[in-house]
Amino acid sequence: MSGDTLFGKIIRREIPANIVYEDDLCLAFTDINPQAPTHILVIPKKPIPSLSEAEAEDKELLGHMLLTIKEIAQQSGLQENGYRVVINTGNDGGQTVFHLHMHILGGRPLQWPPG
Ligand code: AMP
Repeated sequence: MSGDTLFGKIIRREIPANIVYEDDLCLAFTDINPQAPTHILVIPKKPIPSLSEAEAEDKELLGHMLLTIKEIAQQSGLQENGYRVVINTGNDGGQTVFHLHMHILGGRPLQWPPG
């Protein structure tokens, strides 16, 4: 179910990660190369390669991930000052791991626009 990518291996516990949240549909763990004081990745257990490949049947899963992000952000103390949610998609989007993931970045003011 979890696909043959780095993140699939994390779901299957074949490589270690600092997992901060898990339920039937998704998993969250800290980014190995954090770009902000808090940098957490939220991934679906279903191996959707990127947002471009999500389908109508994934609507509930994607909504669930966003509401999970809200909960994780609250628990991480990010609610008061805010945070950013990023989905890098495809090569121009800067995606490097082709298992859909949502970045939660917070704990410092973030610049806009991104590079
Ligand atoms: P993206 O560039 O949007 O595809 O993001 C992939 C993210 O995965 C990057 O921020 C990496 O630092 C992160 N990453 C890569 N390998 C690992 C790992 N083993 N554990 C946690 N995060 C990772």
